[in-house]
Order: sequence, then structure tokens, then C-alpha cells
Amino acid sequence: MSSAPSAARPGAGQLAAAGAGTPGDLPPRSRGVIALLEENCTVCMLCARECPDWCIYIEGHKEPVPAAGELAGADAAGAGSRGRPRVRNALDRFAIDFSLCMYCGICVEVCPYDALFWSPEHEYPATGIAELTHERDRLREWMWTVPPPPAHDPGAPPPREVLAAGPGAAPGGAEG
Ligand code: SF4
Ligand code: SF4
Repeated sequence: MSSAPSAARPGAGQLAAAGAGTPGDLPPRSRGVIALLEENCTVCMLCARECPDWCIYIEGHKEPVPAAGELAGADAAGAGSRGRPRVRNALDRFAIDFSLCMYCGICVEVCPYDALFWSPEHEYPATGIAELTHERDRLREWMWTVPPPPAHDPGAPPPREVLAAGPGAAPGGAEG
């Protein structure tokens, strides 16, 4: 259960030495490392505000969105020219300090835009505490290790996304 007081969670080397196994041996919902799908992040800051350890560091800025861009498909000479200029958040920095993280999962749960995911990867040893702060590029790379979501229970209603995509997109539907 709990280990001796330490500034950092047991590192990957310790886990491996303890026989924790490879990610493939671990249950699919294992909390190894947090991955960031930065394309989905709107810089809303919710995860950083809710993190009980204050170990998520986010920086961003606002940038204008061309009015015509939000009206894709509209006649540029018509409604497009009347579109109000808007601004959106752009991500400059997203980092998680895994020397402070207690792996509670609150950030993953509260993200309204599905930008954070658990990966079972736990092999990220570091020789210095600063190296346990994973910046956005590294957090993005962890996405490749995130397992696919589990299949729905038999008899469960199809996901709304599939229903919205039309009849040909039914789960397990005919492909030919
Ligand atoms: S898992 Fe918990 S402690 Fe770690 S970054 Fe997310 S909210 Fe913070
Ligand atoms: S809650 Fe999600 S969308 Fe908001 S800043 Fe965090 S990762 Fe980005």
C-alpha cells in the first residue's frame, strides 16, 4: 500500500524491480502516465484549477479567428463578411510535474474536451526531479500508448456519435 514518504512517486525502475510487469500485463485502466491530446485542449484551465497538487502548468494566449473561417461553406460575399471577429485560446505550454502528481485522475475526469487520457506506461525513470515534469510534446507522445476504449456491453445502445454518422456506421455493421 503506502510507501515511505518521498517527494516522488516510485519511479518506473522501482516498479519494474517490484515486478510490476510491462504495460501489456497491466489492467487496461492502469494509471501509469497522463497523455495529452493537445488538438482537443481549449486551454480552459479546468484541469489545472481542479488538480489538488497544482502540478499542471498551462500557458496560453488569445488569437483572433478570421470571421470567414467560422462560416465554412457560406458564401464569402454574403454572410461571411458579416461574421463577428472572434478570439480563441492557443496553447503555449502544457506540462505535468509527475514528481508531485498523486495520480488521482481528477484532471482526466474533469476535462470537458477529452484532451487527457491515462496510459498504462509507467517506465519513465529520471535521474533528476526536474525531468519528471513532462512538457507538452512528451505528454503528446504518450497518446500512442493509450489503449483503445473498451467495447460497449452486449446489447448496449450504439454511441451517439455512431447514430449521428448515419445507418452505415452502426457498430459491427456490415462493411461490404
Ligand atoms: S492525476 Fe491528480 S494530481 Fe496528477 S495531475 Fe491529474 S489532478 Fe493533478
Ligand atoms: S481541462 Fe482539458 S481542455 Fe481544459 S485545459 Fe485541461 S486539458 Fe485542456
